[in-house]
Amino acid sequence: MSELLDVAIIGAGPGGLCAGLYCKRAGLSVAVLDMGLPGGQTNNTEAVENYLGIEYIEGPALAQQMAAHCASIGVGTTYANVQGLARDDDGFFTISTEDEPARAKAVIAAMGSHPRYLGVPGEQEYRMGGVSYCATCDGFFYRGKDVVVIGGGSAAVEEAVYLAKIVKSVRVIHRRDQLRAQQVLQDHAFAMPNIRFVWDTIVEEIAGEGGRVKGAKTLNKKTGVQGWEPCDGIFIYVGNLPNSEPLRGVCELDENGYAVVNLMMETSVKGLYAIGDLRVQSVRQIASAVGDGAAAAVAAVAYVNTL
Ligand code: NAP
Repeated sequence: MSELLDVAIIGAGPGGLCAGLYCKRAGLSVAVLDMGLPGGQTNNTEAVENYLGIEYIEGPALAQQMAAHCASIGVGTTYANVQGLARDDDGFFTISTEDEPARAKAVIAAMGSHPRYLGVPGEQEYRMGGVSYCATCDGFFYRGKDVVVIGGGSAAVEEAVYLAKIVKSVRVIHRRDQLRAQQVLQDHAFAMPNIRFVWDTIVEEIAGEGGRVKGAKTLNKKTGVQGWEPCDGIFIYVGNLPNSEPLRGVCELDENGYAVVNLMMETSVKGLYAIGDLRVQSVRQIASAVGDGAAAAVAAVAYVNTL
């Protein structure tokens, strides 16, 4: 990409695509850079029921619709493995990739987040043999089997409910005796006869045999009693981490690596915006990512038009 773009958008999730749509409609030249499928994590979501105006849609279908909408006005996704970002002396940005760098007057960072690892023995060893971070992707393989879900947030509880419709039994192991998940999700989970909660308990090790998970070694934090939860698969949902590595040393990040932005998604660097899961205080919803994308695009258009 030798051309100087008005706006480069890094990440083709709902936020990035929406920003692309707005920038293009404002007459700017724009490229959306990503190395995965357009739609980002929406592709790993079974169903979306809380995006206003759409009562129900499967995640991959919504992702395709978003990408098709963008493509219809000439906003495609360019394959790029973005390694870093720099603001040059001329005030423009260079985005380094494995191939040719991209140059742009403004950048909207929309790289999203990724699952936090539990960090216990066996987790990496059994990643191809029963440890998963995506029930929508892998739940089907556990039909009629027993699985464990680790975590107590909305993701853990939502995925436990999803899995309970496929598998024989789900045990949700949570380190406290109260869930962090939204109440409506808790209500769903408590109503499922094949979901059981294992409270105040941490997983100390994931153990298996012949490359396959056999169970989790646990510790009850209140009683100090060690336990064993036999299972065929373990789904880990202990939070998310921002994919903000390319922004490190470029703009202000908080102590957890989320980009600090103002209400127009402006980072501490002029012409650089951060949106969606990547920014501080994101509620990590499709709707909020899309809203961020619109706000950042409006700000970026105004910025570019002053140059
Ligand atoms: P989260 O809300 O941060 O929850 C992470 C869970 O993992 C917490 O219960 C936490 O325990 C537990 N945890 C963290 N580190 C752990 C460790 N080392 N060992 C054991 N447990 C650990 O993350 P999330 O569930 O991924 O949700 C992220 C955001 O997405 C939230 O804002 C959520 O509302 C949103 N979300 C919404 C929906 C929906 O609307 N349907 C679905 C999924 C996610 P503690 O509770 O003890 O801290």
